[in-house]
Amino acid sequence: MSVRFCFDNSYARLPERLYARLDPTPVAAPQLIRVNVPLAEQLGLDPVALASPAGVDILAGNKVPEGAAPIALAYAGHQFGQFVPQLGDGRAILLGEVVGRDGARRDIQLKGSGRTPFSRGGDGRAALGPVLREYIVSEAMAALGVPTTRALAAVTTGQDVLRGMALPGAVLTRVAASHLRVGTFQYFAVRGDGEAVRLLAEHAIARHYPEAAAAEHPVRALLAAVVARQAELVARWLHVGFIHGVMNTDNTAISGETIDFGPCAFMDEFNPAKVFSSIDQGDRYAYGNQPRIAHWNLVRLAETLLPLLAENDETAVAVAQDVLAGFAPHFAASYRAGMQRKLGLFTEREGDAELAQDLLAHMAENGADFSSTFRKLCDTATTLDEDASVRELFADPTAYDAWAGRWRHRLLDEPMDPQARRAAMQAVNPAFIPRNHIVEAALAAATERQDFAPFEELIDVLSRPYEDQPGRERFSTPPAPEERVLQTFCGT
Ligand code: AMP
Ligand code: MG
Repeated sequence: MSVRFCFDNSYARLPERLYARLDPTPVAAPQLIRVNVPLAEQLGLDPVALASPAGVDILAGNKVPEGAAPIALAYAGHQFGQFVPQLGDGRAILLGEVVGRDGARRDIQLKGSGRTPFSRGGDGRAALGPVLREYIVSEAMAALGVPTTRALAAVTTGQDVLRGMALPGAVLTRVAASHLRVGTFQYFAVRGDGEAVRLLAEHAIARHYPEAAAAEHPVRALLAAVVARQAELVARWLHVGFIHGVMNTDNTAISGETIDFGPCAFMDEFNPAKVFSSIDQGDRYAYGNQPRIAHWNLVRLAETLLPLLAENDETAVAVAQDVLAGFAPHFAASYRAGMQRKLGLFTEREGDAELAQDLLAHMAENGADFSSTFRKLCDTATTLDEDASVRELFADPTAYDAWAGRWRHRLLDEPMDPQARRAAMQAVNPAFIPRNHIVEAALAAATERQDFAPFEELIDVLSRPYEDQPGRERFSTPPAPEERVLQTFCGT
């Protein structure tokens, strides 16, 4: 069976110093775990061909498909605030770009595909657990409606990787609007390669922000567009209780997609200071810090663009500051609008932001589960009887009662059929998120017992996060105290 990708590789047509050309390193015994059928179809790929032996060879890096231009991208990055001038794709190869049925251009990248000139000390490989985690969480994010890279496929390699112990190896096929990162710009800016930065800016505009090309100052418009997308992205993360965990500038996509799912996690009980990542010692990337960090990362992007923003430094800095000042209001507006919808409020009234903040404060004080509280609140829109199921999520249920009284009073101001309100709230308050204890159990079954059934079921559950799925309540129930996952470990 032939596997046809209609590649059109615009990044590989950029100058050679932006990347290294090399093929993936073949693996011993590739075996398919899963092909993402709807995504393959969206990309105009044949999912049956991808799942065939010839397709699996491509997904494992054992065969380079026709028309591909395999490259590892150069990038730098601030990791936990420290600048590292050379990172780059140390274990990933961009096969090429395809234009999907929707007309959108996307990268097809193999992650875990062997060493590259950017590998530094690493082995270029990925372990099965992190590959499955990225598959689960990125696809869950997509189904939740959050901009994100996607997972097209996962295969095992038949080779172990050493991560303190021997673990099964795997390769993820990642699909992204592009792999341009803030760190890509930094790599060339720090080398004084203004020409490369200009080419990257033009590439980013053509690919992600074509409207900026027509602006009076296209690079300024590019920066403003990236600022807006990042502000919206982080607001969406907060609305679903997502903690990225490693918001380094090399993990910040210019496209505004969520990228690089390492020790990321969804919160169970609400706590704005929550950190899961074992490597986040200073709590830099805590849930509630994410907007501030996104802004910090955007300042780093703006620094690389200064020479393109104006002729003289002073003016360039003023322009950059002006654009960056747009982050806070843009984030605040996105965040507020999303919280309104979560509470079933479709008009704006004074005091709405406080109403949302007060609920969150009560939740934090009372250890209330983030997703369950909002999901169960949907049902209380139709009947007061359902209040009991929200109350019981609060250590002190009376904290909820006082708040609920205020909320109901506010709802009077906004007449809406209760059934319609409930449906509208359910469409933004997911019943199903990738709960850490369920994800961990699925990864353990796959890595320790070669049992992929829990992984498959979880993927299916999470593909319809806003629908009630009778019989699958255990996927939406908060963890029992002994099931709680307190820490996640780095994706490598
Ligand atoms: P990450 O933590 O996955 O965002 O990766 C940070 C940097 O480390 C990137 O430059 C990666 O390419 C590189 N890296 C991570 N894991 C490996 C590995 N196993 N082999 C080589 N490079 C790696
Ligand atoms: Mg990364």
